[in-house]
Amino acid sequence: MSQMRLNQLTGRWVTIVAERAKRPTAFAPRIGFEDNDPANCPFCPGNEESTPPALETVNEGGEWELRVLPNLYPAFEGDGGFAVHHDGPVHVMAEGTGIHEVFVYAREHDLSLDRLDDDQARRFMRALRSRFVDHEALPNIRYTQAIVNHGREAGASIPHPHGQLLGLPFVPGEVLDEERAFARFAGGCLLCTTIEAELSTGDRVVASNDDVVVIAPYWSGTPYEMLIVPRHHELHLQDSSDDTLDAVGKALRDATAMLNRAVGDVAYNVGFHTAPHAHTGEYHWHIHIWPNLVTQAGFERGTGVMINIVPPEQAADALRAATSLA
Ligand SMILES: [Zn+2]
Ligand SMILES: [Zn+2]
Ligand SMILES: [Zn+2]
Repeated sequence: MSQMRLNQLTGRWVTIVAERAKRPTAFAPRIGFEDNDPANCPFCPGNEESTPPALETVNEGGEWELRVLPNLYPAFEGDGGFAVHHDGPVHVMAEGTGIHEVFVYAREHDLSLDRLDDDQARRFMRALRSRFVDHEALPNIRYTQAIVNHGREAGASIPHPHGQLLGLPFVPGEVLDEERAFARFAGGCLLCTTIEAELSTGDRVVASNDDVVVIAPYWSGTPYEMLIVPRHHELHLQDSSDDTLDAVGKALRDATAMLNRAVGDVAYNVGFHTAPHAHTGEYHWHIHIWPNLVTQAGFERGTGVMINIVPPEQAADALRAATSLA
């Protein structure tokens, strides 16, 4: 069982998971994957026995296309609520209960988000919705974070394309901050207003259609950062229609493909932000893409102020130019 500890200086929670250091590649040097042989890959077809039974399988043509598995080294585990205890006069902790799932979104060992076909992109988003619906129904899960880490440098420990779903018994600080920003913004929905403003100038629009807009955010803290925003306003990802999800899946594929063509096969993190499950205030779900092109150094760690050397207008230009090369 992992342990949550409250950082009293920031008010944010930290998870201590000693078991995760036992993972095969936890501290391996970040130079490619040590073992990239599909024969030894726990997520490849034929090796299903090497993982715990799937929690969910998408099977459309006689063989599985997508599998959701319990994480063998869970950072969050168990169905207890978020019980906070004092540990002496200052320290505050809680059990790291919750859910940690692996989301194997393709059969092909050497695929990645940027090369999904339309069906794979559709399945990805619809299966994600199905997991969010399951998590939402559990009384101890207050928020679900879905992520994809692409590349060793971005934290991926197994090369086979996969994401992760973490069902948390608390609302994390990043999402609390965003909730407060939505509540503070006086001009309607913060993200609906943002996409209308971006579409009216076009300077930072990477791609758009009737269902979804991809922008290089005005406030990008890191080079080639992108934000994918569905145009139909929904608080929760799981409330979006099939049409919206299909369009977002393709936009995620296209955005990562543009990144690949503009700057090469760089590592990146994808983070899905949806309103906490019981939240009914202002929010608008969206996806962040954070390319791993720079290292956070002392100034960024010390202040939380990012220094971005590529203006988002320039990044959007380069990303759009990369489309026409396709
Ligand atoms: Zn594989
Ligand atoms: Zn909105
Ligand atoms: Zn966000």
